[in-house]
Amino acid sequence: MSDPTTPPDLGYAGLALDRCGDARGDPGFIAAQEADVARRYALFFGDDVALREEGGLLFSADEADAMGAETPAIFLGRSLEGPVFAATLSVTPPHADDLRALATDGRLTGEALALAGCAKSLLSWHARHGFCSNCGSRTEFASGGWRRECPACGTHHFPRVDPVVIMLVTHEGRCLLGRQPRFRPGMWSCLAGFIEPGETLEEAARREIFEEAGVRLGAVGYAFSQPWPFPAQLMIGVTAEAFDDRLTIDEVELEEARWFSREEVAAMLEGRHEAGAFAPPPAAIAHHLLKLFVAGG
Ligand SMILES: [Zn+2]
Repeated sequence: MSDPTTPPDLGYAGLALDRCGDARGDPGFIAAQEADVARRYALFFGDDVALREEGGLLFSADEADAMGAETPAIFLGRSLEGPVFAATLSVTPPHADDLRALATDGRLTGEALALAGCAKSLLSWHARHGFCSNCGSRTEFASGGWRRECPACGTHHFPRVDPVVIMLVTHEGRCLLGRQPRFRPGMWSCLAGFIEPGETLEEAARREIFEEAGVRLGAVGYAFSQPWPFPAQLMIGVTAEAFDDRLTIDEVELEEARWFSREEVAAMLEGRHEAGAFAPPPAAIAHHLLKLFVAGG
């Protein structure tokens, strides 16, 4: 089922649910899912994911009700065990933690992390799209949560995904990494930026690297991609060779940027860099782009 180019432990990827995309527009189908006794809920309070005391993040319908789950819940899809929904809680759950923290330290991985990420992106979208961007009227929940409709002007609004290009830029066996001011001290990552209207993936990669580091790129090649639920990006990983290694850093975007050798990046991935520099965790696509670099890609 998994895509051969996707690293197996890439965070937020590999959602195993059947999204039932052709059925979820049918109110009868959604009503049947909402009445299924096997239905379970992923529950969020702000950015925090509710966790079961014994581990895991899915709650029964009775548990979700008792915890104050708001309606309507979003139908995420069906697992082998039954329907799975996402809902926000009106009160703080007994056990919960920030999704990014759970992903960073590896307490949530694999399918559970993919499910939490999908739920968070959709819940964030609903929380911010209560009004029609066309006419300003209040919008209504539709299609199990995969659409909002405006009763005044009839516009259908769909959950947005914002494409971001993230780049493994190399030059003669070294790779370019930067530090944004918001990064934890010591962490370095691949440069990234939002793709703008009227731009190809390749053009966005070239523009971003030139704007942030003053370097021109040759051919740009696709590596793999990752859903990133803060709030709803698609991180598209690419590789590219720079024409030269002279950097002109955009000091607003980046605190620092420089070239790293394979040996240095290997040490950063393994937490044994002598100056304490480190790479993003396995939940982040940059970690896997750096592993590709170390492996000679
Ligand atoms: Zn409208």
